[in-house]
Amino acid sequence: MSGPPSFDGLVAVVTGGASGIGRGIAEALIAAGAEVVIADIEQGPLDATAAEIGALPFRLDVSRAEEVQALADLVIERWGRVDIVCNNAGVGYLAPFDTLTRSDFGWVLDVNLGGVINGMTVFLPLLRETSASGWMVNTASMAGLFDAPGMAAYAASKFAVVALTETVAQELAAAGAGVGISVLVPGLVNTAIADSERNRQGGGRGAPPQLDQIPPGRALDPGEVGALVVEAIRAGDLYIVTHPEMLPIVRERHARIEAAFEDAAARHPLAD
Ligand code: NAD
Repeated sequence: MSGPPSFDGLVAVVTGGASGIGRGIAEALIAAGAEVVIADIEQGPLDATAAEIGALPFRLDVSRAEEVQALADLVIERWGRVDIVCNNAGVGYLAPFDTLTRSDFGWVLDVNLGGVINGMTVFLPLLRETSASGWMVNTASMAGLFDAPGMAAYAASKFAVVALTETVAQELAAAGAGVGISVLVPGLVNTAIADSERNRQGGGRGAPPQLDQIPPGRALDPGEVGALVVEAIRAGDLYIVTHPEMLPIVRERHARIEAAFEDAAARHPLAD
C-alpha cells in the first residue's frame, strides 16, 4: 500500500526527535504540513529543538512502556488522532563482544529494541483506530542488514528491529489493516550518536566508541534523511534506503548465507 497523499493536518510523533535523525524527520514532516510531537529523554535539547522547529515537546524514556503510553494519551487528548509514528530513539555502543557487559547489552536492547516494541504496542492500534492513512517508521540501521567487528550489541538490536518490522508488515497487509510500516536503514549520518552514553541511566562506562570499525562511507546530514523518510512514506516503501552505495556489503553477507545452503545441499543431497 502507499502512504498518505498529503501530510496537511496529519498528526505525527517522532521519538528521539530532539537530535540528529529524529530532528531531521520531524523537520521534514513539519515542512510537509504535519503537526509534530517530538519525544525525547534529554529535556534541554528537547525544549530547544521543539521551539526551533515548531514541534510540541514530550519528555520520556522510550524503554518505559508507561511513558510511551503517556505520550499516546497526550496526543489523543489533544488531537483525537495520530497518523504517523516514527520509533527512532536509539543509542550506539560499539565495542568488541569480550568487553561488553550484560548491562551494556541491557541498555542497548532496552532502548533500541524495547523502545520500538513499546512504540508499536501502544501506537499501532491507535493508527488503525484514528487515522485513515496511518503509517509507522522504525529506525534500524545498515547494522540491521550486515554486521562487523564491534557491532555485537548494536547489530543484535538493529537486526531485531528489521525482523520485527518485516514480520508486522506482512501481518498488517494480511489483515487489510489500512496501516503501513517502514524500516529506516541508514548508513553513516552526522549526529550525536557517538556520544550516546550521555543518556545512559545510571551513568556510562566511558568505553571509547569504536567507530573506526564501521566501513567508511558517505555521511549524510539528518535533513537529507528526513526528506528521504517523507518521500518513502508517500511511496509506501517497506525499506528506506539512504545509502544505496552500501549494497555490496549487504550482498556479501547474503552470498555467505547462500553459499552455506549450497554447501549443505552438496554434502547432504535430498533423496528423491
Ligand atoms: P542522536 O544521539 O543524535 O539522537 C538520538 C536521540 O535519541 C537523542 O535526542 C537522544 O536524547 C534520544 N534518546 C536516547 N535514548 C533515549 C531514550 N531511552 N528515550 C528517549 N529518547 C532517547 O543519534 P542519531 O544518530 O540521530 O540516532 C537516531 C537513530 O538513528 C538511532 O536509532 C540510531 O541507532 C539510528 N542510526 C543512526 C546512524 C548514524 O550514523 N547516526 C546510522 C544508522 C542508524
